[in-house]
Amino acid sequence: IRKQKLIPKAQYGGRHAVTMLPGGGIGPECMGYVRDIFKYIGAPVDFEVVDIDPNVDNDDDVQYAITTIKRNGVGLKGNIETKSEAAYVTSRNVALRNELDMYAYVLNCKSSGNIETKSEAAYVTSRNVALRNELDMYAYVLNCKSFPGVSTRHKDIDITIIRQNTEGEYAMLEHESVRGVIESMKVVTASNSERVARFAFEFAKKNGKKKVTTVHKANIMKLSDGLFLETSRRLAKEYPEIEHNDMIIDNCCMQLVAKPHQFDVMLMTNLYGSIVSNVVCGLLGGAGLLSGRNYGDHYAVFEPGTRNTGTAIAGKNVANPIAMINASIDMLEHLGHHYHAELLRRAVHRTVNEDRVLTPDCGGTASSTDVVNSIIGNIGHVGH
Ligand code: ADP
Ligand code: MG
Repeated sequence: IRKQKLIPKAQYGGRHAVTMLPGGGIGPECMGYVRDIFKYIGAPVDFEVVDIDPNVDNDDDVQYAITTIKRNGVGLKGNIETKSEAAYVTSRNVALRNELDMYAYVLNCKSSGNIETKSEAAYVTSRNVALRNELDMYAYVLNCKSFPGVSTRHKDIDITIIRQNTEGEYAMLEHESVRGVIESMKVVTASNSERVARFAFEFAKKNGKKKVTTVHKANIMKLSDGLFLETSRRLAKEYPEIEHNDMIIDNCCMQLVAKPHQFDVMLMTNLYGSIVSNVVCGLLGGAGLLSGRNYGDHYAVFEPGTRNTGTAIAGKNVANPIAMINASIDMLEHLGHHYHAELLRRAVHRTVNEDRVLTPDCGGTASSTDVVNSIIGNIGHVGH
């Protein structure tokens, strides 16, 4: 289903145009490595680079990025910074943003004041969230497969996390209803719950997975998580060949660190997905290895699995480049460039699992560029 619907759009003479969003922190250096490697292997991809300046508090850059992804169909992305003090408001209503800025200024200058409402303060959002929402990329897929060359507590983990990617706790509907009272809405809709659940079961079916576990807190959030859980139970009946169970999020975290092998495909809402993704990345060797995929019916964006910025390690030649390189392999695969994807996958496998050229986050002493040079060296070995 995914492949049929998601036909990459811009293709000229067998080449694909892809939007590259380096983002902040280690994003730009990791993108540089991807470009070097793509040049070396002759990958038929032309990157359209869009830099988003975190210090500019209008949304022109983000809107431009969205436009180019709509044109190209595909993006490769680092983590975009949103300066927390400059609460960012999406393009849905420029007037609203201006009014909000004035409102915030007045509020800061009063020591005490009237009871005020900000009922319209609806769309204050992170740029990363805005991008995913506007492109309606409702499903996030994180394949978590152990790397034999990275020593970890548990071996041979193979879990796929499927996360609702556009609503839930990330609805970004926060407001101060009364002074000192913030309300944040968690939005769960039947239609998005159904889309992502179907995505999970279809994924399981196509990839020979045996089981889907829905992760939730429906014992407390009876309506919102209840709807998500009930929807997945209903869809499970359409897939009798796939076992379905469910688990409460807190127990799930304990089970993951203690007995991770019981999990196969995991399905959950947005915030649980973020947390569980990081737990599993931690089990497999940290933030620098895994890649994640954002899918909607029309667009796909590939990025490092934990969505970290890595600000503290930027520019030091210590960041693990593997997560972004794996994201670029996912992207090549999605575009149908199977030869180049496989070539790069085998070279990465050799570097990480056989030669064990690893950065400090994985217990090694190699620099980022050592890892990249090892991969480039291995391309010659695996290519023939
Ligand atoms: P966030 O973007 O969520 O604020 P950070 O950027 O602080 O998270 O990243 C979380 C942790 O993961 C930090 O300790 C950071 O150094 C580490 N990290 C993130 N990406 C990488 C990477 N590619 N290689 C090595 N360490 C990384
Ligand atoms: Mg950060």
